[in-house]
Amino acid sequence: MAYLNAETNLRTHVVENQPHTLEQTNAFLSDIALREALSREGADWAFDRMVKLGADVADPDNIHKATLANRFPPELKRFDPYGRRIDTVEFHPAWHDIMALAWRHELPTLPWRHDRPGAHVAKAAASILFNQLEGGVMCPFAITYGIIPMLRQQPELAAVWERLMLSTEYDPRPRPHYEKRGVTVAFSVTEKQGGSDVRGVSTEAKPIGQAGPGREYLLRGHKWFCSAAGADVIFIVAQTAQGLGCFLVPRWLDDGSRNPISIERLKDKLGNKSNASAELELENTHGWLIGEEGRGIQTMMMFMLYTRFEVALAPVGIMRLGLTHALHHVQHRSAFQRRLIDQPLMRNVLADLAIESEAATTLVMRIARAFDAASINDSERSFGRLAVAIAKYWLNKQVVPFIHEAMEVHGGIGYIEESVIPRFYREAPINGIWEGAGNVISLDVLRALRKDKGTLTAFFDEIEVVRSADRHMDAAVLDLKSLLGAPLADDQARYITEKMALALQASLLIRHAPSAVTDAFCATRLSGRGAQAFGTLPNGVDIDTILSRALPDRKSSFAVRPQV
Ligand SMILES: Cc1cc2nc3c(=O)[nH]c(=O)nc-3n(C[C@H](O)[C@H](O)[C@H](O)COP(=O)(O)OP(=O)(O)OC[C@H]3O[C@@H](n4cnc5c(N)ncnc54)[C@H](O)[C@@H]3O)c2cc1C
Repeated sequence: MAYLNAETNLRTHVVENQPHTLEQTNAFLSDIALREALSREGADWAFDRMVKLGADVADPDNIHKATLANRFPPELKRFDPYGRRIDTVEFHPAWHDIMALAWRHELPTLPWRHDRPGAHVAKAAASILFNQLEGGVMCPFAITYGIIPMLRQQPELAAVWERLMLSTEYDPRPRPHYEKRGVTVAFSVTEKQGGSDVRGVSTEAKPIGQAGPGREYLLRGHKWFCSAAGADVIFIVAQTAQGLGCFLVPRWLDDGSRNPISIERLKDKLGNKSNASAELELENTHGWLIGEEGRGIQTMMMFMLYTRFEVALAPVGIMRLGLTHALHHVQHRSAFQRRLIDQPLMRNVLADLAIESEAATTLVMRIARAFDAASINDSERSFGRLAVAIAKYWLNKQVVPFIHEAMEVHGGIGYIEESVIPRFYREAPINGIWEGAGNVISLDVLRALRKDKGTLTAFFDEIEVVRSADRHMDAAVLDLKSLLGAPLADDQARYITEKMALALQASLLIRHAPSAVTDAFCATRLSGRGAQAFGTLPNGVDIDTILSRALPDRKSSFAVRPQV
């Protein structure tokens, strides 16, 4: 890509002391913590496919497309030239290319297409990698990932749609499902009067004939947020005579006519620009009920579990992206007669970020293993259900200051659009909001603990295996025993969730990470010694070892498979 490295011969324009663009560093091979986790958690078989994905994520052509897809956001076309309603979203071609890449790599479908141990672990690694390329595309693939197990609750609907949802072929043509090679999916519950409190939904669904699972209804109402708005089918939550229900709403009906779904406008968002988030009006809109009337929340549980996991994986990708770019920059930039990588305080900042990134990776990859084992192991199911909420909460709290710090490492250029950092900085907060904002998620942690005593047991089983390995960890376990042994107060939900997240991360690092990483994590995140900002590691931390583990190996993209 000549334009990326183009140099001019202008006499006054000598570029010195600036790195070249970071390119072609395989995002998987250069991430030792992720490689080790993939193998440890049971998806060694996916190594080669992650190498390919890691190369695609680092491909300058794909990075350029991701930038374009965000610089030229989708546009709403409500009418054709003759005034007929079409309610279509038009995307830049780059969006379609990135979507096709995600579909080819099975981001939406991997565990459902490969029913084998480690499938969710492989999926988690893939999501961490893909989120280093483009965040907007994550929303459509997250929804498909969550919808498939939900759809399977209604076999006659699954018989029509599942094959198309499982396709690795991205087919963006706005055509009825029977003409398509693959479909994409959206999901809409949020209305103006309420999002977190789903019971406030006012959209109504009335049966055309007989009511019940799999039956046809007509929907009337509005939806205030519907992302992935170019989708072929939207899953919509509406009120039935018996309470909430979840409906499959295709954009096209079987006779080839359009299902009446009016896209009122697209949201003008802070970030996530490439992805179309719409407001919808529904009137005489045909939908088919999944599950029982009045059991909409139960029907959605499976969906929410997986989509929440997806939005816990996204910040891990963003952190790693920020770290990789920061580490690259400091190797090629000097200030005050020293390369930045050799400045002691900069090393402290980078090592602190590296610890955070590895702790995040280790946590989500362990949760992925719990998802893999959930169908045969109750304890793993309980652990996965609890830990996914903990991770969704905590990692999304950490990613915003993290990417800001990675930006600051770059100095002024980090604030400039041509560096990729601003795009990811704008992307960072969204995963803390959708699929449950911070308060709602931490309250959900308390709900899980209150409802199923097995979750508490599974949690302590996980953190107590490292008893006596680290004094800070031992103290943290004792603290948590007293905290969780007392009645759980709602106003303490964030505090409790944070403490649980840190203890889980520490327990996993103690078992799986080098002592340099683990000791620094425990000394700063568990002891109360740590300060609020990154770059505040105390004396005595083995920064050299931490950085040599985190530094991307520039040669790795050409390497034969290394031992992990
Ligand atoms: C870019 C974007 C895309 C989106 N796409 C979709 C989509 O595709 N489909 C869809 O259905 N929705 C979508 N949403 C909506 C999103 O899921 C909701 O905004 C989110 O769930 C919060 O709901 P709300 O906006 O109604 O806020 P509210 O529910 O009003 O919450 C506001 C605040 O109150 C807090 N809060 C709520 N209850 C409690 C409580 N009991 N105690 C303490 N605090 C509480 C929340 O944590 C939050 O901080 C999208 C949102 C955004 C920003």
